[in-house]
Amino acid sequence: MNLQRRRWIVPVIGLLVVIGLPVLGTWLRRQSEEGCALDGVRIDPVFAVRIIDVRGVEARFCCLQCAAWWVQRRGETPRQVFVTDETSGRWLEAATANFVRSGVITNATTGNRVHTFQSRSDAERHASESRGTILTGSARPFENFAHNDPPN
Ligand SMILES: [Zn+2]
Repeated sequence: MNLQRRRWIVPVIGLLVVIGLPVLGTWLRRQSEEGCALDGVRIDPVFAVRIIDVRGVEARFCCLQCAAWWVQRRGETPRQVFVTDETSGRWLEAATANFVRSGVITNATTGNRVHTFQSRSDAERHASESRGTILTGSARPFENFAHNDPPN
């Protein structure tokens, strides 16, 4: 009786390993895909940044600060930068976004305080509610290459 039970269990364990390993592998790959390209931190979709580099390769980041450091480290102008509208969760081009530096930290590790909004009124509301400032000119993230101006 005891022996028969063991015979039954061995193929079941084998089957679980055969099915379970690929599932585990896929899950682990997905976990690493979702991590920030700079520090590996899990990406909160509300603060995500997407950069397409000159070769067309995409990298995703947990916050504006990580993306800015990554660009600085690479020393090359990305092809495109997308940021997330904190109100709707939709992607928008960094060049069209409204950025607000406020007292609210989006990421405890990097200390990022810059927030992204598609609508100017959302940005103004966040600025007035959180002692923030709407960033303009060279204070805007990615502004130094956003228009692909030739270097002076
Ligand atoms: Zn990061």
